[in-house]
Amino acid sequence: MSASGAESGCRVDYTVNKWTGGYTAQIKVTNLGPALNGWRLTWTYTGDQQVTSAWNATVTQTGSSVVAVGAGWNGTLATGGTADFGLQGTWRSADPAPSDFSLNGTPCGGDGTSPPTTPPTTPPPTTPPAADCGSAVICSDFEDQTGPAPSGAWQFTAPDCQGTGTAAVDTAVAHSGSRSLRVDGGTGYCNHAFVASTADLSSVGPVMYVRMWVRHTTALPAAHVTFVSLPDSSQAGRSLRVGGQNGALQWNRESDDATLPAQSPVGVALSRPLPTGSWQCLRFAIDTTAPGLDTWLGDEQIPGLHADGVPTQDIDQQWLARTTPPRPTALRLGWESYGTGDDTLWFDDVTVGSAPIGC
Ligand code: CA
Repeated sequence: MSASGAESGCRVDYTVNKWTGGYTAQIKVTNLGPALNGWRLTWTYTGDQQVTSAWNATVTQTGSSVVAVGAGWNGTLATGGTADFGLQGTWRSADPAPSDFSLNGTPCGGDGTSPPTTPPTTPPPTTPPAADCGSAVICSDFEDQTGPAPSGAWQFTAPDCQGTGTAAVDTAVAHSGSRSLRVDGGTGYCNHAFVASTADLSSVGPVMYVRMWVRHTTALPAAHVTFVSLPDSSQAGRSLRVGGQNGALQWNRESDDATLPAQSPVGVALSRPLPTGSWQCLRFAIDTTAPGLDTWLGDEQIPGLHADGVPTQDIDQQWLARTTPPRPTALRLGWESYGTGDDTLWFDDVTVGSAPIGC
């Protein structure tokens, strides 16, 4: 169904792809009114849908009301111009398509919805976002680092005790240009080493998107390790951590030691090992307003590293025991080992922002 003509301010094509408990929607908004410098599309869900993440727009949901605001690069809409964005969400009992779209307060002429496609059994791949930094708060290729020691926007830190772990700007190995961040992390807690960004991330959101290229020398060990640590104000400054356990990637919450996925054999199998000896693109989407966490290794969304509002055994049942969403405030890259496991690893092309960033 489409808008009937020029008397309407807009037309919206809302194409949904759903599966049990979840859905994605691709949304195309066409401006049929005067040119807009900054657009805001609103609608109301009549089912129990809950948006957990979005790309190419900032999407927030309050109750059943949803607001999508154009990103920096697609925020201007000429007359007849279109913008495309997408979102992912959850639902439990009902998920009818919305029909009350308004663009900058002007109702659109029709709901424009496409019929739902056959439900797939797994989330469908989504259009990858662009790899450039856009409006990202952190956007570092480390090429501005002049000396061997991290400086300026990146500062060495060993927060609790200092042993043999080191971090340095490396000119021998790089994903882009001629520099990267190298960490030599030792076995044992005090041999940790991190490099912290000086950027304040406390207003990044509602979904925080992180992309980094990482290169590890040694496979993730059986014991628990961390290589990305996000101080989290919802945990009174303790960290939301990305690392590994049982040989596979894992999220860990410092305050209650919850893991994602659960460390059962089924849960671990739903995560992935981190390949060694080559650069790997790792991306996260962290919802700071609702349960929602996603992780991609290359182009694959890792099923065991997905948390949403619906507990799934062996994946996020334990993770969802804590209901306060995370609020990361800073980024630390490095190595921390809580038992056995050491590694030499590199980071490059690191971005953090409120919009998705591709590999
Ligand atoms: Ca570089």
